[in-house]
Amino acid sequence: MKKSSVTTLAVFGIVALLLVALFLVSGRISLLLRPLEVVQEVAPTPEPTVHIHRFDAESHLCVECGERCLHEHGFDSDFFCLDCRWACPHETHSAETAACPVCGRQFNHHFGMDGVCDVCGKEAALYTAELPDRYFSPSAHSGRCLRDTLTLPDGLTLELAVYLPWDYNEETRYNVAIMLHGDGGSCDDWTDAPERTHRGDIQFYTVYDNIIDEHLCDPFIVVAIDNRFLKSSFYGEGLIKNTLLPYIARSFSTWMEGDSYDEIAAAREHIAIGGLSRGSIYTYGVGMARCLDVAANFCCFSNGYIGDVPRQMRAEGRDAFSIKSYIATVGLKDEYLYVRGHRYDYEVLCSSIDALTDGENARLFEIDAGHNFITWTASFYDALLLMF
Ligand SMILES: [Zn+2]
Ligand SMILES: [Zn+2]
Ligand SMILES: [Zn+2]
Ligand SMILES: [Zn+2]
Repeated sequence: MKKSSVTTLAVFGIVALLLVALFLVSGRISLLLRPLEVVQEVAPTPEPTVHIHRFDAESHLCVECGERCLHEHGFDSDFFCLDCRWACPHETHSAETAACPVCGRQFNHHFGMDGVCDVCGKEAALYTAELPDRYFSPSAHSGRCLRDTLTLPDGLTLELAVYLPWDYNEETRYNVAIMLHGDGGSCDDWTDAPERTHRGDIQFYTVYDNIIDEHLCDPFIVVAIDNRFLKSSFYGEGLIKNTLLPYIARSFSTWMEGDSYDEIAAAREHIAIGGLSRGSIYTYGVGMARCLDVAANFCCFSNGYIGDVPRQMRAEGRDAFSIKSYIATVGLKDEYLYVRGHRYDYEVLCSSIDALTDGENARLFEIDAGHNFITWTASFYDALLLMF
């Protein structure tokens, strides 16, 4: 044998041995690997980071992970959270928007005679000067102003103008303000008649629309009447109790359950009588003196002449009726006698009628304007916020 053939054989043998060894080793390796693969298969899959929470309606915590429901999908029409079925208790509302900060339900501020909302603690922005511009501009939502005519028992007819808020509906109970115009005016002065002022023609209903849009008081309607029938307090009393209030109870959704005397009287805290100038005199003479049994709120702007009113308010047990609100205003640029006279009337009533306390259920506002609609729009704005 040649030396070279021996070498070739040796190399060949070594390569063969190496191949066998490699085969064996790779077999071992695959055997070693196999259990590893099995281990991987039986290992638990990692916990998914997202699961569908199941919230407890009482605690509104997820029963699996304890996370709190953020109610981020909103609430149904009964204010149950769509995720956790928790019922929103509306524990307060936002001072800016009067909406519940949790579920978004819209409420109104409820300022009361102290001017502080009894829900959110916000202080009412009351005005003793011209209202800000926005109250004289059309709001995002405009209410409706209607006209109607009532036939009185003696055949005479009564003209009236009605303001209904834009979202007026039969499911809501509305407060009612019966408003009286002044000499030379007409019932629609309180709704949509253009009134000349230094800022041009204004219409009263834009103030109502903006109050409602800003949620500054509970819902209200305004019913303004031709005031000539209130010259006689006896006739005016019958008109308000026997014709006007039953008509309002039948026609609109109010706190009056029906048109009977008892049903009307039961809603008196939600009924106001008010007026400007001559209408203010009639509010004292007919409203406060003779209608305390059917109304508990009175707005008297710019004029008084109360005369016999304190005696009549004490007569025949009328002093037993509580008064929810009495709001008087004077225009500081009005004639001096009106200003002095009405201030005096206010003081006489507060000192002689037990049911009235200045600074509590009675308030006097001195408005920096004259005998005009700048004073009366500010006056009625303040009154609506405090009364309703
Ligand atoms: Zn969870
Ligand atoms: Zn929830
Ligand atoms: Zn709520
Ligand atoms: Zn509030």
